[in-house]
Amino acid sequence: MRRGRKLAGRLRFSNWSILAKVMAAPLVMLVALTLMTFVAWQTLKTQRTAIVSGIAEYEAALERAYHVSHHLASVEANLYKLSMWSEIGVRGAELEGTLRAISYYLDISDTDIAEMQEAGLSGADELRAAFKTYKQNTSQAVLLILRNATLGAVATRGGHQAYARVEGLAQTVATRASNDFREASERTSVMSDRLARDFVVAAALTGLMAIIVSFAASRMITRPILGLVRTVQSLLRGDLAVGVPFVERRDEFGRIAVSVRELQRVMVQNRELADEREQKQAELEHIASHDGLTAVANRKAFDTFLDAIWQNTQDGEEFIYLLVDLDSFKPINDAYGHDAGDAVLKTLAQRFRELTRPGDFVARLGGDEFGIIVPVTDHRRDPETIARRILEATARPISFNGRELRVGASIGVACSRDVAGAAHELMAAADQAMYVAKHEKRPSYSIYSPSMMPERFGLDDKEEIETALERGEFVMHYQPKVRLGTGGHAGFEALARWQHPEKGLLPPSYFLPRIGSFGLQGDFTVEVARQVFADLRRFAAARLDTGGVAINLDEATLATRSGMDALRGLFSENIDLAGLITLEITEDVFIARSADIIRDNVEMLAGLGIRISMDDFGTGYGSFKHLREFTIHELKIDTQFVAGIGRDKSSEVIIDGFLAIASGLGADVVAEGIETPEQQQYLTRRGCHFGQGFLFCRPLPFEGAAAYLEERAPQAREKTKVG
Ligand code: C2E
Ligand code: CA
Ligand code: CA
Repeated sequence: MRRGRKLAGRLRFSNWSILAKVMAAPLVMLVALTLMTFVAWQTLKTQRTAIVSGIAEYEAALERAYHVSHHLASVEANLYKLSMWSEIGVRGAELEGTLRAISYYLDISDTDIAEMQEAGLSGADELRAAFKTYKQNTSQAVLLILRNATLGAVATRGGHQAYARVEGLAQTVATRASNDFREASERTSVMSDRLARDFVVAAALTGLMAIIVSFAASRMITRPILGLVRTVQSLLRGDLAVGVPFVERRDEFGRIAVSVRELQRVMVQNRELADEREQKQAELEHIASHDGLTAVANRKAFDTFLDAIWQNTQDGEEFIYLLVDLDSFKPINDAYGHDAGDAVLKTLAQRFRELTRPGDFVARLGGDEFGIIVPVTDHRRDPETIARRILEATARPISFNGRELRVGASIGVACSRDVAGAAHELMAAADQAMYVAKHEKRPSYSIYSPSMMPERFGLDDKEEIETALERGEFVMHYQPKVRLGTGGHAGFEALARWQHPEKGLLPPSYFLPRIGSFGLQGDFTVEVARQVFADLRRFAAARLDTGGVAINLDEATLATRSGMDALRGLFSENIDLAGLITLEITEDVFIARSADIIRDNVEMLAGLGIRISMDDFGTGYGSFKHLREFTIHELKIDTQFVAGIGRDKSSEVIIDGFLAIASGLGADVVAEGIETPEQQQYLTRRGCHFGQGFLFCRPLPFEGAAAYLEERAPQAREKTKVG
């Protein structure tokens, strides 16, 4: 049954191969013409046979009729001779010869007529009857003549009538045969005409059929082409649900259609994958920009938003920044546990959100600190009203496990129009105002006024930094980078320290803001790079393999011509060491105003053979979508995420995301700030190969770093010595 259906399917015209379809029409023509020719040939052959036999019959009839007439004439002549001779009295041998001649001619006439009868000539029977009478008459006439010449002559004359009848009948037979022949010929020609006409009709029908078959064939060929082209176009337009036609066909188009369907399947799969990836990325970005507990924005997202609104606020527009710091939050945590603290934070975040309008921004900045940004679009939204409402919202009791928890808040408010300079000045202003509010006995708010702000850094600070740069008071410490799987050494990160003549060793958090505020970053970076190159040569002289050194590069140096010129000069002088240098840049470079220049400079440095590392990844705005804009060899997972391992699910999710992204980029991943074996184990398990942190080693001065290397890799040193 199934086999039968299968066969029927194969036989269906649409399933024939293209070649078979194209050949179908000419084949139909050929077969039809062959058949027609055969039939015509057969017909003509039959006719020819008929005509030939007709002619033979006619000839035979004519000949016999002629013979009969001729013989009878001879009989008559001899009869006449006989009657003459009997009158004049001839006897003997002549008479006998005449009698024999009469008998002879009668006999062969008889034979001829018999043959005519046998041949079935029409009228032959009648002729035979007449001949019989004639023969009898003649025999009587001969007897009479022999007995009495006069009577015999009369009898002979009487016999003439019978003779005339036989003669006439013989001619009739001939005439009839002739007529039959003519009729047969006419019939033949009629038949030939009909045959010719049938031939023409059949040829026309065959031609028509061939045209129909050709038309069907071309439709069978063009229809699927058009159908499949339309399908592919739909697919290209993104309509992946479109049905693919002709897949059930068994010809070449069936195979093409199956391929198109396969293509569609792959496209659907790809889209699903892309959707999934996009969703994952969105989730990751959401997690990265939101506070896991309260679901409002986190610090990172807040910084980004503040920068953006700061830069995009036009003249005449302004916004208010409220820094909300909770009072008596810690006692709740201590007395009722973390769940109670969490409930308070969640409830308050929710209340703050309810107070805001679209376009406002609420973030948890950390601990019990919230930041709220409110663009002022109409003048009914004044800072005092908003601050008062937030205070009221904080003061309302919060139910937790049947308890009524109460907290208060100190709010620092800063208006953008009261602050000049960078976005962080606004934050400092709000800090200042909050500081004032904290000194009130009751929960309260304070609005920043410029008189609150002390001068940040003075001219003395500037001079001090410049002197430090001149005297080389900045020194480099080196923190090892290790292979997490084996603990093996994998390079250093150079971290600057200020060896202050009076204050002792100062950390970057002390001097970097000063360097930044005086715009001395370029000079500072060149100084750092200079020292690193010098130290690299010292390590080499001691035949120690550093495994490479990473230098931190700030955005300002990368973005300014003077900074880059000096740095490029230095790198060219030490081009032999370029392969040992990694430059750590932070995500800010993606959104810096001079991002284009930075991009060019980074590419230029990468072109010198220097590795590029993305530092503090995930803490700034940059986020994933910018990563492909640079050549990136390494990604550093920030301390804040490493610290969250085992404590905060979202950190772990983000770390997984980073590892996936880095493997997509073909970049190494270095996790920073590893302090516990658990963190190391977790990271190793998730496929992070490199790490840095106090667990392995703190940053060390040059001598310490050299000792570290010596202790760890005496063999390596031996090798270097031999080499
Ligand atoms: P960074 O580049 O993220 O450097 C890592 C910081 O984390 C260093 O702080 C390091 O001492 C510290 N760290 C290392 N392991 C651990 C750990 O296990 N736990 C914790 N909690 N911290 C760890 P440091 O030296 O104070 O530097 C702070 C930041 O200052 C650096 O962050 C870097 O952004 C900047 N910085 C340091 N040196 C330079 C420099 O030469 N040039 C520039 N432009 N910036 C520098
Ligand atoms: Ca760094
Ligand atoms: Ca870092």
